[in-house]
Amino acid sequence: MTTIPTDETYLASVIRFTMKSMTTKTPVPFGALIVETATGKPLIKALNAVAAENDPSSHAELRTVRKACKKLAKKGKGRSLKGYTMYSTCEPCAMCMANILWSGLDRVVYGATIDDANRHCNQIKIPAREVSTRSDMPCIVDGPLLRDEAYALFTHPNMLKVFEQWKSGPRTLKKAAKKGKA
Ligand SMILES: [Zn+2]
Repeated sequence: MTTIPTDETYLASVIRFTMKSMTTKTPVPFGALIVETATGKPLIKALNAVAAENDPSSHAELRTVRKACKKLAKKGKGRSLKGYTMYSTCEPCAMCMANILWSGLDRVVYGATIDDANRHCNQIKIPAREVSTRSDMPCIVDGPLLRDEAYALFTHPNMLKVFEQWKSGPRTLKKAAKKGKA
């Protein structure tokens, strides 16, 4: 008999996957994984790629939904993620939670909270549960789980350096624009 791994196992795996970004040029604390709810079979995982893709909507959860739907569409399964569960290193923002609801995901399990993330970067302070309960689409929201492990992504020394760059980013860009190309 095969047993489905626990929520902790999946969350720990997506935290490890996200932690690998800390030694790359673009460290991010946000990663997500989608698994089939009934079998626990992993479908797809992705990291935040806002900087890499120059796309403010390229949050980990939203990218994971996009990739999952594309993968399922190839198998002729349409665009619904009903029957699937998402594990995310951080509580989904209002944009991602809305997307999760539209996608039909059964459940989302998160690590760190929006408040945890907000200590380091800008956030929209609406709890994922509130977005879910105010919609017509059913989706169970579970978390925080493995919060300390997930929060360690935000306090990694390489991540802290990048947060500083995010804060000074617009000013740096303005300076560069003044100097030359603008
Ligand atoms: Zn988001």
